[in-house]
Amino acid sequence: MPADTANLARAFAAQHGYEPRFIAEAPGRVNLIGEHTDYNDGFVLPVAIDRTVAVAVAPREDTRVRAHSVDHDQRDDFSLDNARRHPMGGWRNYVRGVLWALLDSQLHLSGVDLSISGDVPQGAGLSSSAALELALAGAICAASGIELPARDMALLCQRAEHMYAGVQCGIMDQFAAALGREGRALFIDCQSLETEDVPLPNGVAIVVIDSKVPRELAGTPYNRRRDECAEAARALGLASLRSATESQIESLPDALRRRARHVVSENARVLAAKAALRDGDFGTLGRLFAESHASLRDGFEASTPEIDLLVELANAAPGAIGARLTGGGFGGCTVNLVEASEAQRFGDAVVSQYRERTGLDGEAHVCRAVDGMQVRDA
Ligand code: ADP
Ligand code: MG
Repeated sequence: MPADTANLARAFAAQHGYEPRFIAEAPGRVNLIGEHTDYNDGFVLPVAIDRTVAVAVAPREDTRVRAHSVDHDQRDDFSLDNARRHPMGGWRNYVRGVLWALLDSQLHLSGVDLSISGDVPQGAGLSSSAALELALAGAICAASGIELPARDMALLCQRAEHMYAGVQCGIMDQFAAALGREGRALFIDCQSLETEDVPLPNGVAIVVIDSKVPRELAGTPYNRRRDECAEAARALGLASLRSATESQIESLPDALRRRARHVVSENARVLAAKAALRDGDFGTLGRLFAESHASLRDGFEASTPEIDLLVELANAAPGAIGARLTGGGFGGCTVNLVEASEAQRFGDAVVSQYRERTGLDGEAHVCRAVDGMQVRDA
């Protein structure tokens, strides 16, 4: 894991006046394919990436929580009995939300001192929030002597995000941050919650390009899209769009039909992409990425002109295999499969042309697939 945890331990000591006991670290993620399918009980295929959030922690004798965001240079101080929403929002709500979710499942926690730092870009669609939640849950459980299966921890963190961040996210982000594996993508059936590790083929790099168009899910049509999908399922008499067929959705009114058509076709693309990854079939992967992006842009209407431009530039850049919008949309990042030997040149080419066309400073991240949340002695 790459984050500078020695620096984090020093920051903990400077803030709290003694050394931390444990460091928990959890990765951000990029979704290769399967967008807006998670909350529709469908399929997703994320990769946990080598950008992480780390939490240094030590238990306390009392029930106080003293939290410190190194990156924001901000503090928080409250009692465990009082882990309610902080009126200022921001990172403090994740600390309170994770504590609340753990306490609400009847776990006995000690008070903690903790310091947080990370290098997952925030609000870019790489799920820094789930990385933060899993690192917090891992740290707090370690400090309290609690062992929880990674999957249970992820489910608790999802509840925290629903209740404290106001984002009705599916399970993808927390599962990726908890269950990701080095060199592998994580296929998730969001209905059964079954997962499957899918080895990434040799010779392919994952390049994430951040459009730097700011995006906050709580303030975008993300929750509205969720409602539209639920409405489409209801109109079809189904529990979710997972079981909808191509012919069924033709009866829906126009906007709902286009949303549902994206979800149904995207699920099929995830299954096809899983097979193509196993086969190292780059041609098929490229086609599936292109279809996914077009469907998100035209049918689901979750793209932006800047993201569409990044995809167009990527498709003409050296080493390109496939490019598409990733994450909730409405800004954020593209995910690109690129021939590994060209990854750097690819990123540079797209970013410089993007700057020429928009004046925006996009950023390319060449990513490795890493393990999910880990706790170690500090
Ligand atoms: P995303 O998950 O796409 O990055 P979100 O808006 O869901 O975007 O979550 C971003 C929020 O998570 C930040 O505004 C901040 O409150 C919190 N966060 C993420 N990383 C850190 C960090 N290193 N330190 C403190 N808070 C963080
Ligand atoms: Mg998030």
